[in-house]
Amino acid sequence: MKNIVIIGGGITGLATAFYLQQFANAAIDTTLIESSPRLGGKILTAHQDGFTAECGPDSFITQKPAAITLCQDLGLSDQLIGSSIGKPTYVWNRGDLHPIPEGMMLMAPTMMLPFLRSRLISWRGKLRMGMELLIPRREEEGDESLASFTRRRLGAEALEKIAAPLMAGIFAADPEKLGLQSTFPMFLEMEKQHGSLLRGILKRNRAKARNPVPAGSKPKPSPMFMTLKGGLEQLVEALVARLTREKVLLNTEVVCVNRVLDRYQIDLSDGSRLWADEIVFATPADVTANLVRGMDPVLSFKLRAIRYVSTATVSLAFKRGDLKTPLHGSGFLVPHSAHRRITACSWSSQKFSHRAPEEFELIRVFIGGARAEFLAEQDDAALIQLAREELRAIMGIDAEPVLAKAYRWSKANPQYDVGHGERIAEIERIAAWHPGLHLAGAAYHGAGIPDCISSGMKTAGNIANRLTNPEPVDEPAPLAASVPLKEKTSYDFRRYSNARYHYSPAVPSALGPRLLKESHAGVLGDDPGLRPGLPPLSRRGRF
Ligand SMILES: Cc1cc2nc3c(=O)[nH]c(=O)nc-3n(C[C@H](O)[C@H](O)[C@H](O)COP(=O)(O)OP(=O)(O)OC[C@H]3O[C@@H](n4cnc5c(N)ncnc54)[C@H](O)[C@@H]3O)c2cc1C
Repeated sequence: MKNIVIIGGGITGLATAFYLQQFANAAIDTTLIESSPRLGGKILTAHQDGFTAECGPDSFITQKPAAITLCQDLGLSDQLIGSSIGKPTYVWNRGDLHPIPEGMMLMAPTMMLPFLRSRLISWRGKLRMGMELLIPRREEEGDESLASFTRRRLGAEALEKIAAPLMAGIFAADPEKLGLQSTFPMFLEMEKQHGSLLRGILKRNRAKARNPVPAGSKPKPSPMFMTLKGGLEQLVEALVARLTREKVLLNTEVVCVNRVLDRYQIDLSDGSRLWADEIVFATPADVTANLVRGMDPVLSFKLRAIRYVSTATVSLAFKRGDLKTPLHGSGFLVPHSAHRRITACSWSSQKFSHRAPEEFELIRVFIGGARAEFLAEQDDAALIQLAREELRAIMGIDAEPVLAKAYRWSKANPQYDVGHGERIAEIERIAAWHPGLHLAGAAYHGAGIPDCISSGMKTAGNIANRLTNPEPVDEPAPLAASVPLKEKTSYDFRRYSNARYHYSPAVPSALGPRLLKESHAGVLGDDPGLRPGLPPLSRRGRF
């Protein structure tokens, strides 16, 4: 019987446990460890007086199917509800809320008429965006920040009024740092392929016009986001209900993980110790960095390079009659240049049904993020007051809310900075040197709920494969074949990838002979400096 330990009971850890049940043919003993008293991590729904208020995420994007698939697998299909279709999102600009023109593909217009009619972008800004057709494609390969790309191709106004506030809303990110390659690679690809975003869009529109969909067979427009009638925590509850064979430890913090031969030794906050053949870190990257610090300092160092920022949300409910203007839309975004203290606002009860009783509206305000983290760190009363002041200034809401709830998310949003893809590839190369160690979750290949579910599903698949295949499937190939060597760093030993051998002070001595055997087989080759029995390398890579 193989022991599998999953650290972290957020959606990633839960999805891993669930899919492991589905995929594993061999007998397994799974333990899921969660430091807090509840499962779900950042998914947290509050129910009060008929309101369903999301404290963390409120929905998932439908373009990535993993979340919908999981809901279907859990028998929740009839509970899925879509976001309102055709209701605009607004941007706060010069003292007014302006709808984002219909047909915007993030920062690029795909429909001319609504774009030209929009009062959000000035004529000068529109002209500059139109000139995108004439801007030559970038020569350099590789990642680029959202700000640099948008400014270069579409101009400063498109960045300030559309791209940056959207990204602040989705990633809580600073557009000067957010890398396009690991967030919206299609824009880099469009530029590469067509030389211009607008040219790419025009070509696509022309192709569509040449092959029109026959009237009657046109698919109904589908919602961009979905959630569950009872809130996203309904997904967590359904997952938990299925974990009947797994041991679930709540209020139990993993404090340290070490590797001994082929197994992992897991030390818990209550002083007890577990052993695992396969270990899944479904924890934020900075937590994982702490846990593996003793076992693999280089992996820990690389994980720590993934930055996190803090945000806060405030949910306020009002009697519909108390609002001076009826709400029509899904909410609004606030550009950084507007110098306000909130980044966005969701009109939750307009965006989704089942969020507020009749005659009431539920509104959610976002505070903090990469450019104003300090604002998210205030206490509840200050956050609620700030949200009310901003709603008064922007929407003219003076009324007393019938419900007010604030939630702080300290260092909760991973930042996909420029070069994120390369950083993750390197982390995964290092992690692959620890057979049976799996990294999953929002820090690596997408921060949205569908990405986390996919990551859990993929991890479960990898474990199931390793259990059934006598040869571990994620064991790294020999260095020459697998590791493209990059720039030489002060860690000369990186010449040998990340060989565990070299930072062996933290590795129990029992590991020595096996490591050396593996190393000789695959990595160290004939290097005379790397022989069994010799002490570990220094930081400069010399004995
Ligand atoms: C305010 C906010 C709004 C968001 N909105 C959306 C949205 O609308 N749509 C969307 O798709 N995504 C959204 N996201 C992102 C999404 O919610 C997260 O990326 C996702 O929930 C992360 O899930 P996870 O399981 O990877 O991590 P987490 O939810 O962080 O779970 C990790 C778990 O590990 C536990 N843990 C930590 N340390 C230890 C330890 N030492 N030992 C044991 N357990 C430990 C934690 O307690 C936690 O339960 C939002 C995020 C935030 C913060």
